[in-house]
Amino acid sequence: MKEAKYYKKLSDNRVQCELCPHNCIIENGKRGLCRVRKNYNGILIAETYGLISAIHLDPIEKKPLYRFYPDTKIISIGTVGCNMRCEFCQNHEISQVGVDEIGLKKVSVNEIIEMVKNEKNSIGLAYTYNEPTIYFEFMLDLAKEVKKLGLKNVMVSNGFINKKPLSDLLEYIDAFNIDLKAFDNNFYSKITKSNIEPIKESLKLIKKSGKHLEITNLLIPTLNDNLGEFENMCKWISEELGRDTVLHITRYFSNYKMIIEPTGIELMRKCYDIAIKYLDFVYLGNV
Ligand code: SF4
Repeated sequence: MKEAKYYKKLSDNRVQCELCPHNCIIENGKRGLCRVRKNYNGILIAETYGLISAIHLDPIEKKPLYRFYPDTKIISIGTVGCNMRCEFCQNHEISQVGVDEIGLKKVSVNEIIEMVKNEKNSIGLAYTYNEPTIYFEFMLDLAKEVKKLGLKNVMVSNGFINKKPLSDLLEYIDAFNIDLKAFDNNFYSKITKSNIEPIKESLKLIKKSGKHLEITNLLIPTLNDNLGEFENMCKWISEELGRDTVLHITRYFSNYKMIIEPTGIELMRKCYDIAIKYLDFVYLGNV
C-alpha cells in the first residue's frame, strides 16, 4: 500500500486530501470522490499505485498530440477512477469504477520501465485513459524513471488538479493534452461535478512552464455548442496562452449516460472558422 502525497490529518482519524480542488474530507475507512484514495486509520492510501487497467502502444496522435513528435508511438497506461463525473465519459468503464470493481493488473514501476526501455518504437510513457491526477504517486515515480532514460512523459488530463502537485509534476512531464470541456461553469458544475476556474489556472501554469500544451474541446450538441461561448473560449486561449496553442475540436458521439445526436459537421466547420481567427493550430477530431 502506498501512502498518498498531499493530504493533512484531521481530528477523529479523518484526513483532507489536497491533490485536486475537491479537497475531500475523508472519514476513516472511506474514499474520496475519485473512488481510489482511501483513509486507512488516518493514513491516506493511493489505492491504484501499481495497478493498471490498460497498457498499449498508441500513435502519439491518438492522445491527441499533433505537434509533439508527430508520426511516433508511445506506450500508454491507465488505472481506474476519476475526479469528475462526466455524464458523457468515453472511458466510463474504467473512469467511473474503483479498484474492487474490475480486474486490474498488478505491475511494479520497474516492470513498466523495462517495457519502456525495450520498446524501441516508443518515445516514452503516456499517462492517460482515466484521469492521471488521481494516480499521481504512481505517475510521478514512473515519470522520474522515464526522464532518467532520456525519454518523454505525456499527461492527458482534465486539468482539475491543485497548484502544488501540478508544479511538482511539471519538472517531469514534457507534453500535456488538457480537456477544456466547455467555457461555462454551469456546464462544469452540472455535467462534470467540478469547476472551471482551477482548470484555467492549470492551463496558465503549464503554459508558463514552457511545456508542450494542446487542448481538447469535445463539442456536445445542446450542451456546449453556443457559438458565442465557444468564441469566448478561443479568445481566452489566445490571450492567456498564446495563438500558438493547439486546439482540437472533437465530434461527440453518444456515450455512457448521455444519448444525444452526434455533433453536426456543419457546426464543426463553424467552430473551426471561429477558432482559426484566434489560434494558429486548430484540428477537427472524430470526423
Ligand atoms: S484526488 Fe480524489 S480524494 Fe483527493 S481531493 Fe480529489 S477527488 Fe478527493
